[in-house]
Amino acid sequence: MELKVIKNDAPEVASERAVKPPVDERSLVHKQMLRGPFWQKIPAYAAVGESEVLDHRWQAKHSITNVPKLLAALGSLVGPDFIADATAGFDKAPMSVRVSPYLLSLIDWEHPYEDPIRRQFIPLGSRLLPDHPKLGLDSLHERADSPVDGLTHRYVDKALFLALDTCPVYCRFCTRSYAVGIDTDEVEKFHVKAHADRWQRAFSYIASRPELEDIVVSGGDAYQLRAEQITEIGEALLAIENVRRIRYATKGPAVMPQKILTDDAWLDAITAVVEHGRKLHKEVVIHTHFNHPNEITGITESAMNRLFERGITVRNQAVLQRGVNDSDETMKLLVKRLGHVNVHPYYVYQHDLVKGVEDLRTTLQTALDIERYVRGATAGFNTPTFVVDAPGGGGKRDAHSYEHYDRRTGISVYAAPSVKPGAYFLYYDPIDTLEPDYQRRWSIPAEQEHMVQDALAAARARLR
Ligand SMILES: *Cc1c(COP(=O)(O)O)cnc(C)c1O
Ligand code: SF4
Repeated sequence: MELKVIKNDAPEVASERAVKPPVDERSLVHKQMLRGPFWQKIPAYAAVGESEVLDHRWQAKHSITNVPKLLAALGSLVGPDFIADATAGFDKAPMSVRVSPYLLSLIDWEHPYEDPIRRQFIPLGSRLLPDHPKLGLDSLHERADSPVDGLTHRYVDKALFLALDTCPVYCRFCTRSYAVGIDTDEVEKFHVKAHADRWQRAFSYIASRPELEDIVVSGGDAYQLRAEQITEIGEALLAIENVRRIRYATKGPAVMPQKILTDDAWLDAITAVVEHGRKLHKEVVIHTHFNHPNEITGITESAMNRLFERGITVRNQAVLQRGVNDSDETMKLLVKRLGHVNVHPYYVYQHDLVKGVEDLRTTLQTALDIERYVRGATAGFNTPTFVVDAPGGGGKRDAHSYEHYDRRTGISVYAAPSVKPGAYFLYYDPIDTLEPDYQRRWSIPAEQEHMVQDALAAARARLR
């Protein structure tokens, strides 16, 4: 193997060659996770002990789904102005709201407007921005690519199976707001029988397609599946010869790690599928969704350790969000802390075009800049790929691989030759981030069309 030599500034003196002085241990903040009874700062949980807080059933039962419950939990921590703002936010939000007590206790209630977890889960009327004119529900065309209800077959060798439509919490920015969160009651309404039929149709389709090797089991959220359902789905998929890889997708570890510590039946069910898969030489893993380093606490670490001890691989898919993780340092800290608890940072998604959350989207340029900063901060296999899930069904594209990007109009254009040959896919930066002239152009429909046509022409010119 040949060594690369950096010619011009090779160090001359030995002491200079000793390169890096040791870093002060206290600066390694990724290791400093929140511990202790932090939830007791919330008035309603002031007297709640660890055994209750670690019980996933307690967490689910006490989840916040409306403003009166929010007020009951927080008491005097927030003023009437904030409550009025939240009431307006809940009224206008296209998505159901559900926040676990654990998440609620991670919010800094002295600064709720700025808090990255509040921003993701609790809508405020005063922060809402008008939607982008190019935005539609189901912007990823998941339903258009569905051969069977709840199964999206977009890429050649992999498919997305939506097993159910509820989640342990509801995220304001959810891409599937067209499908999830339909029941806002705290009581789960599982229609197992109805599921069984639909699931069977999905499994039959997968078995009929020899090219399908990789199945994402999502929803909704695999956390909401009962242990028997985890087994049923896992075993049905493992039994299909062409299936080689299965991922259970769940936001659970990020929003309710307690379940991994106290729901033994659920964890044993997952573990059994992973182990059976291993014997069949098929990979079964968990994909999860942490967005901010504050979401990783001592409780998370214990939960991730439990998965690691069982040999279960966990990968993370984060969403880039304005005011949440759109700074170099926050993203680097997230990546380092994930690595520390043995979660592989797999993707950072450019925020999809979703209704009612323009305040959370960033420009594509933000993603490009943060990627440049994060790469090199840690192991390459722990460095996420920044992707744009191309609106219109183009699938995920490396953020840097645009055919064209006009920072003034905010339009970027992608191609996806292996997914939809010959087609172009457009992403749009949020309008409020553009210069005033361009904001004005976006308010005129004929101008919108011009900007889109210009962008497409520039992309075509580039592609010969
Ligand atoms: C994200 C996604 C997958 C999995 O894609 P990877 O890039 O392999 O993570 C599969 N199907 C659909 C429809 C998806 O959105
Ligand atoms: S957990 Fe996932 S599917 Fe559920 S609301 Fe959040 S982003 Fe959407």
